[in-house]
Amino acid sequence: MRSSFLPFSKPAISELEIEAVADVLRSGWITTGPKATEFEEAFREYCNAKGAVALCSATAGMHLLLAAIGIGPGDEVITPSMTWVSTVNLIVLAGATPVLADIDRDTLMVSAETVEPLITDRTRLIVPVHFAGASVDMEPLRRLASAKNIHLVEDAAHAAGTEYRGEKIGRRGTAIFSFHPIKNITCGEGGMFCSDDPTLIERIRRLKFHGLGADAYDRNTQGRSPQAEVLEPGFKYNLTDMAAVLGLGQLRRLDNFIEKRSLLASRYQELLADVDEILPLAVPSYPMRHARHLFVVRLDTKLAGMDRETFMAELKKRNIGTGIHFKAAHTQKYYRETLHLSDGALSNTEWNSDRICSLPLFPDMKMEDVDDVIDAIKDVLVSIK
Ligand SMILES: *Cc1c(COP(=O)(O)O)cnc(C)c1O
Repeated sequence: MRSSFLPFSKPAISELEIEAVADVLRSGWITTGPKATEFEEAFREYCNAKGAVALCSATAGMHLLLAAIGIGPGDEVITPSMTWVSTVNLIVLAGATPVLADIDRDTLMVSAETVEPLITDRTRLIVPVHFAGASVDMEPLRRLASAKNIHLVEDAAHAAGTEYRGEKIGRRGTAIFSFHPIKNITCGEGGMFCSDDPTLIERIRRLKFHGLGADAYDRNTQGRSPQAEVLEPGFKYNLTDMAAVLGLGQLRRLDNFIEKRSLLASRYQELLADVDEILPLAVPSYPMRHARHLFVVRLDTKLAGMDRETFMAELKKRNIGTGIHFKAAHTQKYYRETLHLSDGALSNTEWNSDRICSLPLFPDMKMEDVDDVIDAIKDVLVSIK
């Protein structure tokens, strides 16, 4: 057994990045300023996006989006239940109705086929979720949304560096990224709103900071522009320079991170091939670059003779950390009591929600750590029945 605990995720922060954050702290300007602008521009360039706005989280980005397109009472928004609950919460907080779509059983992603039957004349927005670093099949969804004149915005929290049909996520349409510590790159907390719609970008830029017509930082005055005026009531969702400078360092290493994550994921695939109780996710067959954000497996509870909670607890006893991405939104207390979805309404989502488990995967992990995880899994499977 491993002598030290292996967490399921750990941010890879370099001494250079720590030094860069310290430099910002010493500079006299620590909130949104030149580093936030630089990070926006670098991320925009990385994705080859038309416009990018740095924010304090992806959740903030989704909130701004709902406000910008005016989602409110009477509107329906289609999104998967297999997601982080932030989007579903925001839809409810906006007074609109979340319409939860089922997913493919083995990729955990929605498709045009699962979304189309849910469209009504009240549907205003579709929010597909790129899962675990893989890309949703966007083309059929884009055709569907445009034919029905419905907004389409990608939850790209897992998809920094993901490519779909040769293009980075963020290049086309509108995508919202997260830089929370478990994501592929981190700012501590942070997010990025990318869009090819310049009007939307302008609106998001304004709404993210009190509805001022100007950004917080003015290059000429080396500080806040005193002339800025409120053009409409806005929020306060800007990214600090302390966070942005960390994001800049991380972005430079993103491709290396993905390379390392891919090697680790391949090792998992190889070693799990003959473990019948453990089912990794499938990789979709359309062209993409998988960013390998998470290594999600499903436990065949019948074959294993134990539930997922026991499996995770037993791995923890063997010093292996795991996570759940995600417990489906509609199975959580508030949504059970308000949405009243019948058992089996989202059968693939429910099946996975009870069985998924994310195994350790992060750039500073060693290949031997994967072997430790597999040894622990095999040990749990033979000792607990
Ligand atoms: C992490 C995550 C979010 C939220 O990102 P924050 O930056 O923490 O707000 C949204 N959707 C998904 C699928 C996520 O995993």
